[in-house]
Amino acid sequence: MSTTHHTKTLIVGSGPAGCTAAIYAARANLEPIMVRGLQPGGQLTITTDVENYPGFAETIQGPWLMEQMEAQAQHVGTTLIDDVVMEADLSQRPFRLTGDSGDIYTCDTLVISTGASARWLGLESEQTFMGMGVSACATCDGAFYREKQVAVIGGGNTAVEEALYLTNHASKVTLIHRRDELRAEKILQTRLFNNPKIEVLWDTVLEDILGNSGGGALPLGGSLTPMGVTGLRLKNVKSNEESTLDVDGVFIAIGHTPNTDMFKGQLDMDDGGYIITQPGTPQTSIPGVFAAGDVQDHTYQQAVTAAGTGCMAALDAERFIAELESKANAAE
Ligand code: NAP
Repeated sequence: MSTTHHTKTLIVGSGPAGCTAAIYAARANLEPIMVRGLQPGGQLTITTDVENYPGFAETIQGPWLMEQMEAQAQHVGTTLIDDVVMEADLSQRPFRLTGDSGDIYTCDTLVISTGASARWLGLESEQTFMGMGVSACATCDGAFYREKQVAVIGGGNTAVEEALYLTNHASKVTLIHRRDELRAEKILQTRLFNNPKIEVLWDTVLEDILGNSGGGALPLGGSLTPMGVTGLRLKNVKSNEESTLDVDGVFIAIGHTPNTDMFKGQLDMDDGGYIITQPGTPQTSIPGVFAAGDVQDHTYQQAVTAAGTGCMAALDAERFIAELESKANAAE
């Protein structure tokens, strides 16, 4: 049987933005509920070393940081619920959202902190070999490639971090980038170029992923070839030259898409699906609905900036509720 939960402030998503919004909202006595989502803790739970979150002189681990943030949110009074919001109706007040569990969430203010998910190239072979040599998470799957050869696609911070991480397991890592310079931070680039296990292929795009997908009949008396990726078909975009590269796995690290499907058509969004907020604020096109973190930020996308906008969203939610309450009192 489904349950209806009502709260002054509902927070959807439990990454740094959601947790920070929860901490501030709970301390403002808004008794927030945080629906944790498909990937509780968000993207930091699939990273390893975190060196740029202020307050920690030593390198910390992403999953540990998120455990601490959630524990802090809970400690100050947030109710955490394991559910995934599938639908939202922002046309009525209180706002009404439906979880995958069938539970209904109604709220006076809503903080959307659903983050962003890894993007894919859109190749058919990506789908064919998903989980059989194709991945978007080196920290999740890197250990399967001990002493094997792997490739990483992309030239941003994620791609470089994934390549560096994979050198802990693989014998060789090839970073494949479509341009002749990386957009990753210089400190990461230096580490990449100094790592003897990493080779960079510039001006190169992935055309297809090669391998054995297990189709076809087994020849009489024949043996099964292991399923999975065996190589990549590449093209140099300057010379148009095609080549193949033998690898056992490929990690796609070409950026992220915001998780905003359930709010489409209800909130103003840009062409990339990011929620548009009023400049310098987390306020969306609907009063009382706030967006924080990567779901509204295609520029900075840092844990600390997400946390900052989560704080702003909770402070604005508190103000919004105070105004609602003072109007209600004046009307009595
Ligand atoms: P990103 O910075 O958007 O980089 C995506 C990379 O993928 C770019 O190099 C881009 O190439 C390439 N790319 C995009 N579409 C492609 C396609 N269809 N085919 C081939 N290559 C493609 O994404 P990100 O690395 O995931 O980082 C996202 C944000 O998170 C950034 O703000 C980043 O700073 C942040 N981040 C920070 C840290 C950290 O601080 N330690 C770690 C990870 C991520 P072009 O360069 O040619 O556009």
